[in-house]
Amino acid sequence: ATPTSIMAGSGRAAEMGILFKGGEHLEQTHHINTVVVDKTGTVTNGKPVLTDVIVVDRVNENEFLSLIGAAEKQSEHPLAQSIVLGINEQAIELGTVETFEAIPGYGVKAIVNGKEILVGTRKLMNKYQIEITNVLSIMEQLEANGKTAMLASIDGNYAGLVAVADTIKETSKQAIARLQGMGIEVIMMTGDNERTAKAIGEQVGIQHVIAEVLPEGKAEEVKKLQAAGKKVAMVGDGINDAPALAVADIGMAIGTGTDVAMEAADITLIRGDLNSIADAIIMSHKTMKNIK
Ligand code: ADP
Ligand code: MG
Repeated sequence: ATPTSIMAGSGRAAEMGILFKGGEHLEQTHHINTVVVDKTGTVTNGKPVLTDVIVVDRVNENEFLSLIGAAEKQSEHPLAQSIVLGINEQAIELGTVETFEAIPGYGVKAIVNGKEILVGTRKLMNKYQIEITNVLSIMEQLEANGKTAMLASIDGNYAGLVAVADTIKETSKQAIARLQGMGIEVIMMTGDNERTAKAIGEQVGIQHVIAEVLPEGKAEEVKKLQAAGKKVAMVGDGINDAPALAVADIGMAIGTGTDVAMEAADITLIRGDLNSIADAIIMSHKTMKNIK
């Protein structure tokens, strides 16, 4: 590769909001045949809105929201922030938090107003032996609509659920179709549950979905694809995505995401638009053609 063509290519890419960290990445990107996209904040806008609150008969809804809102206020997770925002809109005073623990990939655990509060996945409830059989069908319905439902317990008993809905970026479906049209396999990977992930995948034309991946598991999934001979680009925005971005043949961080993701990646896509993935690959092809 001549330094001149690399410089020209990098410059043109930068004008399109695609920042290659080094010339070698511009040279390597055209080998990519598999693109793994994170769901929240990558395919979607990553700003979920609280849509449903369903409590069991014996629990008062305002008290429920006061307790789980207090617990979630301590969490930096985007899901937690959307829950707190939704609760704040209802002008409910939050409880007093004594202890708080984030359980990555599962949810949160806190003592609020002297009560033990858990908010998170089915697996979190199972981990603490909270009985949830009666709520599962409601949860599945919410998930089939692409919502993320989170279960909550108070002092060891299931108390209610909250669900949030994220919106899909306007350009995601078309950008994914464009990659597929270039013969590239697109896979969506998320810590969210299988049903929600499939519903979102269906809306953007991704059949291959890897769901319920724990934070440490995303890099492992990329390695598996590489072991199967694929040249993998990983596209993500979160702290959770950083190890996978580093392991991938090419890591692409969304510019609106976390600094940690951008540090781990080879390319930053300044615009959140997933069209930048195809643009980056095409730019690499063009640069390599000029070199030959
Ligand atoms: P994602 O890829 O969606 O960012 P995470 O690994 O961060 O996935 O989280 C996986 C799942 O764990 C979420 O979909 C949610 O159900 C649950 N979870 C994580 N953090 C929280 C939280 N602060 N409050 C409630 N649930 C949470
Ligand atoms: Mg994300």
